[in-house]
Amino acid sequence: MSANQSLPNIVILTGAGISAESGLKTFRDNDGLWENHSVEEVATPEAFEQNPSLVYRFYNARRAQLQEDDVVPNAAHLALAKLEKAFGHKMMLVTQNVDDLHERGGSESVYHMHGKLLSARCAISQQTFDWRESFDHTTQCPCCKRVTLRPDIVWFGEIPMYMEEIYDALSQADMFIAIGTSGNVYPAAGFVQIAKENGAHTIEANLEPGVSNALFDESFTGPASRIVPQWVDELISKYAL
Ligand SMILES: [Zn+2]
Repeated sequence: MSANQSLPNIVILTGAGISAESGLKTFRDNDGLWENHSVEEVATPEAFEQNPSLVYRFYNARRAQLQEDDVVPNAAHLALAKLEKAFGHKMMLVTQNVDDLHERGGSESVYHMHGKLLSARCAISQQTFDWRESFDHTTQCPCCKRVTLRPDIVWFGEIPMYMEEIYDALSQADMFIAIGTSGNVYPAAGFVQIAKENGAHTIEANLEPGVSNALFDESFTGPASRIVPQWVDELISKYAL
């Protein structure tokens, strides 16, 4: 059979749950705080304006931790890379995660709707630069040679990236799966709704039971490293790839 013609269009959304088994710290202590601040409090444009050094420090710490030896992609990341090799452009991978674990797992096309930790953005030109080191209000921007760099992260109150491409793909999707992200919180809640309206089969995969959303046709509960490889292998064998 001519494989590509008969393959379904799949949109995959991943959230924090897929990276939970990869050794990433949550940066919250027992009170749910980071250095006495809620994470929501440091991840806003207002915080960056009022206390830039605090915001730089928070992201510098997260960027450094992401590059520690014990942070590695898990079986779920690897499985989605395998699916990309089989489905090519029939599949779109969207992530809410700012880590690079999908890329390290072998995925080539990843839509980071909330930005990337290993990237810096010029606040003036909006140009982005791969960035693995720490940076702050004294770091010169490569494009304008001024001190204009900010984390390439979508903060609370800012508009997520690639929304047009994502809504486009959702409107043509035959299948939508949300992995490790609550289906009740926007934007995932909106994504499943659009996919559903367009007739897609909708699936959720979460560690915790009980976060189910009525718009999902199918629900899997358990660790992503077990559920996702199973789901991928079934798809690949179903379409004889
Ligand atoms: Zn610049």
